[in-house]
Amino acid sequence: MANLFDTKIEFLKGVGPQKAQLLQKELRIFTFGDLIQHYPFRHEDRTQFTNIEDIRSDATSVQVKGVIRTYELKGSARKQRLTAYFKDETGEIELVWFKAVQWVAKQITPGMEYVIAGKPAVFNNRISISHPELEVYSDKSGTEGYLQPVYSTTETLNRKFLNSKGIAKIQQTLFRQVYSQIRETLPPNIIEHYKFVSKQAALLGIHFPKNQAELNRAKARLKFEELFYVQLKIIQEKGVQKNESVGQVFGALDTLTNFYNNYLPFDLTNAQKRVIKEVRGDVVSGKQMNRLLQGDVGSGKTIVSFIIMLMAIDSEAQACIMAPTSILAGQHFEGLSEFCEQLGLNIKLLTGSTTKAKRKVIHEELVNGKLNILVGTHALLEDVVQFRNLGLCVIDEQHRFGVAQRAKLWAKNRSVAPHILVMTATPIPRTLAMTLYGDLDVSVIDELPSGRKPIQTIHKTEAGRLRMIGFLREQLEKGRQAYVVYPLIEESAKLDLQNLIDGYEYICRRLPEYFVSIVHGKLKNHEKESEMKRFVEKKTQIMVATTVIEVGVNVPNATVMVIENSERFGLAQLHQLRGRVGRGGEQSYCMLMTGKKLSREARLRVDTMVKTNNGFEIADVDLQIRGPGDLSGTQQSGTMDFLLADLAQDNAILQEARECAEEVILEDSQLLLPKHHVLRQHIDSLKKSTVNWGRIS
Ligand code: ADP
Ligand code: MG
Repeated sequence: MANLFDTKIEFLKGVGPQKAQLLQKELRIFTFGDLIQHYPFRHEDRTQFTNIEDIRSDATSVQVKGVIRTYELKGSARKQRLTAYFKDETGEIELVWFKAVQWVAKQITPGMEYVIAGKPAVFNNRISISHPELEVYSDKSGTEGYLQPVYSTTETLNRKFLNSKGIAKIQQTLFRQVYSQIRETLPPNIIEHYKFVSKQAALLGIHFPKNQAELNRAKARLKFEELFYVQLKIIQEKGVQKNESVGQVFGALDTLTNFYNNYLPFDLTNAQKRVIKEVRGDVVSGKQMNRLLQGDVGSGKTIVSFIIMLMAIDSEAQACIMAPTSILAGQHFEGLSEFCEQLGLNIKLLTGSTTKAKRKVIHEELVNGKLNILVGTHALLEDVVQFRNLGLCVIDEQHRFGVAQRAKLWAKNRSVAPHILVMTATPIPRTLAMTLYGDLDVSVIDELPSGRKPIQTIHKTEAGRLRMIGFLREQLEKGRQAYVVYPLIEESAKLDLQNLIDGYEYICRRLPEYFVSIVHGKLKNHEKESEMKRFVEKKTQIMVATTVIEVGVNVPNATVMVIENSERFGLAQLHQLRGRVGRGGEQSYCMLMTGKKLSREARLRVDTMVKTNNGFEIADVDLQIRGPGDLSGTQQSGTMDFLLADLAQDNAILQEARECAEEVILEDSQLLLPKHHVLRQHIDSLKKSTVNWGRIS
């Protein structure tokens, strides 16, 4: 029998083919099931009102009680506009309608008490709300239904009276029709254990709660369920034991000991030592390592990865390190070459611009085992790149790589999968890492090398530009170097490039006694690299660049990072950029240039940067602002599309869902027990549904 929830939406009373088509197109609501899962994004307490004087123009929505003093119609025919003057004891705002003007005019009676709701905006210095919801006020406090669901909708739907209220109405119709047939989707023992409300109660409660407590209970259950099924899938596919693959055992330590005793340029921090120990445990275990190494910018991940590469080399295996840009790959190569020379190891660089002749040598040496370490970009992933015995892959600045690419590296050793170390400077909250990479162990370098002075971050607007230049000169006179970074966003790439070039010329004019490099995405790789090199070799003192220098670049003598239009950068990116300075012993500075007017969010970002250097704190704020989808990088962001759950806030629920899913799989990995029948059934229906399941990678 077909599932009632698969019924097409047009068959719902009050919808019909026309509205159905709109619902499909605008909100991707095709079936009864889709509609019931179109949860309200919040509820409005019909007993709570904002005073007009307290309305903030950036509020997402306000609800005000007051009267319409008067109204007027302006314009003629199709361009007609209705403006109503709505006041309470504290002030007056304008309500504006552009559509269905005549109809609205008939609905309103000056002097009557109304409740209006909508998104405020500022127009001619006055607050106005266009197309507000409008309802005659009646005292509903303490009565049922004082929490009204607010649904997301679109302008087009609004016009067809499928505004939030209209959607609430068809939801009610739907509930009347299907309520008794809502099936339970969690096993009874789980419901009992967590004291959850039934699925029926939860769905009704999320749409039409009687009170806040009921809404909370509904949310708790539905969020859990959402996260639980995702975890169930991850764990079922990957096994509860994180990793069952066999791995090479790296027992010998000759070169590594030699390096430690004779060439290590500084004492390792305790955090670095701890991570090396953790990895050591992995590579002697006989199982394949899959480890995520998190460490704030400048925490010294590179040296750690090198020491781990030595473990592989000491056991006759090869190692590779892959970086997201050729500049960064080049820097790793330069840095590690020095060590390799001391140790008598063979290291080579492979990027998109490596010549054919050099490639040939590399391919040969990889296969015959002469090459110990290969450093490179995505070029490493190509099928022609084959190793004699690849033992370790290090992936630097992981957020630019996808899961598929990791899999490609695995395949580079057909007999035993290589150990994988993924390094990232974007701290990912533990629970998020767990969800994104259910299969990765996590190590953290939570300590910076000693002697570093915290970077001072300063915010300046245009008015402070000359002082910024003066400050730059001061630093340059002390023999230091500086970065000046401009944003580059694809859509306006041309304009941004012009911006960058103008900025470059400005700097050249203002600081004529210094040499200035410029690096941007339009340059050829070898041009970028040679500019970078000039800067590294101190032939130039100032580097004007786009965010190509964002990741990894290491010039300890650079002490100033000026970020132009910094309001256009995300927090993670700002933190990455700032991390390019403060790498030596000198006091370093980051100057955030912005326009005068900042949105609330931009202000929060700038303030956070000024306040703290702690990457984890910044990641937390970032997570609050952006939500977790963005943090995971584009390839995987689909994973994070939850209807209700919010990884920024629901860590505790995620943890519970994770543990619960682990228990279920431990007890019954195939979900064959009778009590788990409901799980299998729900998984099947999720697979069919368009909403969530298919996007989970
Ligand atoms: P990241 O973690 O951002 O990749 P790097 O590996 O580039 O950081 O290291 C940043 C700088 O700190 C480098 O110049 C490196 O040589 C130096 N460094 C790393 N570990 C230590 C240490 N234990 N003591 C002093 N300097 C260190
Ligand atoms: Mg690095």
